[in-house]
Amino acid sequence: MSQIKRILVTGGAGFLGSHLCERLVAAGHDVICLDNFFTSQKQNIHHLLDAHNFELIRHDVTEPILLEVDEIYNLACPASPVHYQHNPIKTTKVSVSGALNMLGLAKRVGARILQASTSEVYGDPDIHPQPEGYRGNVSTTGPRACYDEGKRCAETLFFDYYRQHGVDIRVVRIFNTYGPRMHPYDGRVVSNFILQAIADEDITLYGDGSQTRSFCYCQDLLDGVMAMMNNGDGFVGPVNIGNPGEFTIRQLAEMVVELTGSKSKLVHLPLPEDDPTQRQPDITLAKEKLGWQPKVALREGLETTIAYFKSLDLSHYLKPTDHTLH
Ligand code: NAD
Ligand code: UDP
Repeated sequence: MSQIKRILVTGGAGFLGSHLCERLVAAGHDVICLDNFFTSQKQNIHHLLDAHNFELIRHDVTEPILLEVDEIYNLACPASPVHYQHNPIKTTKVSVSGALNMLGLAKRVGARILQASTSEVYGDPDIHPQPEGYRGNVSTTGPRACYDEGKRCAETLFFDYYRQHGVDIRVVRIFNTYGPRMHPYDGRVVSNFILQAIADEDITLYGDGSQTRSFCYCQDLLDGVMAMMNNGDGFVGPVNIGNPGEFTIRQLAEMVVELTGSKSKLVHLPLPEDDPTQRQPDITLAKEKLGWQPKVALREGLETTIAYFKSLDLSHYLKPTDHTLH
């Protein structure tokens, strides 16, 4: 190991945050996990609590906090549509005030700070696949705007702190990512379909299932995110991190049914408003600047994720909101 750093991970108890904390702890860093547990539970980080180089702080990023750290991964934000639409005003506040608070902290202590942005900054894209230079097709008033516009404003704040105050920023745009430790009640497509298939319940296709997404396995994603944080070339992004393998939602459902050996039937429910019709990352920039590309095929990643969901005792999980399918 080269150098031990003090690293803050906001949203560190969440799906991606908990894997990131685990990897940083294993690498010997001094890790502070900050979370308010809105969309996660302590189960995700329970195994880290006894580590000498892991510390947990229950805190809401919309409130300032003073810490001495070298790096900040800013992941705190509800990420699934049913969760971020539950209290949309709070969602915008988490993205915007959370970014302001963390950027202020980075400025004060001279920390490098990485923002977990999203493919949602492209909205319902009319350029396909989406390169970083594409400015997006985003509704400012629709039900997804609280998240999309919140994340867009956060990117703006990152670049203004970079230009105005010289803060050492990194911005990654994460495309749909899945894997163990997704919240079983987060309502996202991978967790919904797997839980439905395991229980032989109907698989709920929203719309005709012809909309596409490109699914990245969580550890691949974190390889890219950490490569971005650690790049010393002054490359600040934004950079797309995702798996270019594009699937219709119907294809995903069929694959989950096959891999689980389920008796589930596919049924159709109404398509949510402003649901993007297509999404696929152009990862040319990540390949060129970070030497990164994903390795795990969807089928392989789904097998691991299915095994994880099968192992869960669902009675231990609270529903973060009432609007989750499961
Ligand atoms: P997640 O919901 O599992 O994790 C988010 C974490 O942030 C949770 O632990 C939650 O409790 C915490 N949190 C929420 N509001 C908070 C607040 N006000 N203060 C402190 N903590 C708060 O979701 P995830 O998939 O791990 O997403 C992590 C980050 O990556 C998010 O910023 C999300 O927008 C971004 N992202 C994820 C995906 C994906 O497909 N997983 C795609 C694009 C972007
Ligand atoms: N979806 C679906 N059935 C579900 C959950 C989601 O058909 O039970 C669809 C949803 O309409 C969208 C895609 O799957 O087109 C991905 O949804 P998700 O909520 O995972 O994330 P998004 O990419 O929309 O933010």
